[in-house]
Amino acid sequence: MLVLVINSGSSSLKYQVRDVEAANVLTEGLIEKIGMGNGGEGDGEIIGPRDHAEALEQVDAAIHQELGELELAAVGHRVVHGGERFSEPVLIDNEITRAIERLNPLAPLHNPANVLGIRAISKKWPDMPQVAVFDTAFHRTLPEHAWRYAVPDELYTNHGIRRYGFHGTSHEFVTQRAAAMLDLPVEEFDGVIAHLGNGASVTAIQGGKSVDTSMGFTPLEGLVMGTRSGDLDPSILVFLARAGWSTEDIDSMLNRQSGLKGLAGNNDMRSVVEASEAGDAKASMALAVASYRLAKYIGGYHVAAGGAKAIVFTAGIGENSHQFRALVGEHLAALGIQLDAGLNQVRSKLARVISAADSAIPVLVVPTDEEQAIAEATAAVVRG
Ligand code: ADP
Repeated sequence: MLVLVINSGSSSLKYQVRDVEAANVLTEGLIEKIGMGNGGEGDGEIIGPRDHAEALEQVDAAIHQELGELELAAVGHRVVHGGERFSEPVLIDNEITRAIERLNPLAPLHNPANVLGIRAISKKWPDMPQVAVFDTAFHRTLPEHAWRYAVPDELYTNHGIRRYGFHGTSHEFVTQRAAAMLDLPVEEFDGVIAHLGNGASVTAIQGGKSVDTSMGFTPLEGLVMGTRSGDLDPSILVFLARAGWSTEDIDSMLNRQSGLKGLAGNNDMRSVVEASEAGDAKASMALAVASYRLAKYIGGYHVAAGGAKAIVFTAGIGENSHQFRALVGEHLAALGIQLDAGLNQVRSKLARVISAADSAIPVLVVPTDEEQAIAEATAAVVRG
């Protein structure tokens, strides 16, 4: 079954054509600068498509040029926010589209863009089955004591202010693969999954279900990320507001100027590791702050999982940065968890064990593949 996987942003549209059974990518691409005018008179200037409908025409043309005639069975959309309603992927109709739109206030940068992508497909291919796969859905199993903030109740009841969690598609995919690696049915898998990309989150899994996760009301809470601060004392924001910072200034500082970038001047883990190895003290401190924060979460989530049977690293940093994993591993020694230095340094695209034989529990690296997860979920919904 061929599925077109769409990740629709406000000014970009990322796509992949996937063969679900073969688990491979037939073609992929990224259309950028959507709606950014067409200042393209000069040579080599990129002329952005006017809107998502025009971007979709470009996607269609690119797919046909690459693959010729083909029969797409369905479109799977990555949708960021499913609120409290969506706990699994759903077949999209008008009512579902409006429900995703009603969640716009909770994800003002993402859900409106996701809806633009859905509407563009509906218009071009009215009979094409479309499935929404939500980033929040896997975390709908969090118990209330994990998703509540200790603020006045009406903030939740009137404004939906609670912890939702994100990266759910990846956490679920990796949970299934990790359970399989340990020869456990997924319902018997308890563990901690660290998804470390530009955005990063860690999830506690009990019985194959998410029981806690480090991102909260938005993807800002939790770990130190590429440009996001993760956890901090909320009074800092009050302090800055009183000092005259605007809401936009604070938002930009927290989401775009913080994290590795704020501490080391660079948001890319590879560059920060290289700088640290070359003796840059700020880069070393950024790595120390980020790895310590993650280790504290892993310790806490070992408890939340009711005793983890494995710790799992995934995504760009988790899969590739043996230096960062080693820094986290040093702290985990307090729990008897030991990496094997040699196994940790093996470069591979495959899922693998990186812990020492006498480690209290295994530590795994399991590559994530969110598009494959979306394609599989889409195929499952379409097949009913
Ligand atoms: P996104 O959240 O954008 O999907 P990725 O999962 O691609 O992010 O992760 C991006 C991060 O992974 C960057 O910090 C990048 O430096 C890091 N990364 C990618 N490849 C490597 C590598 N070979 N060694 C160390 N870090 C890497």
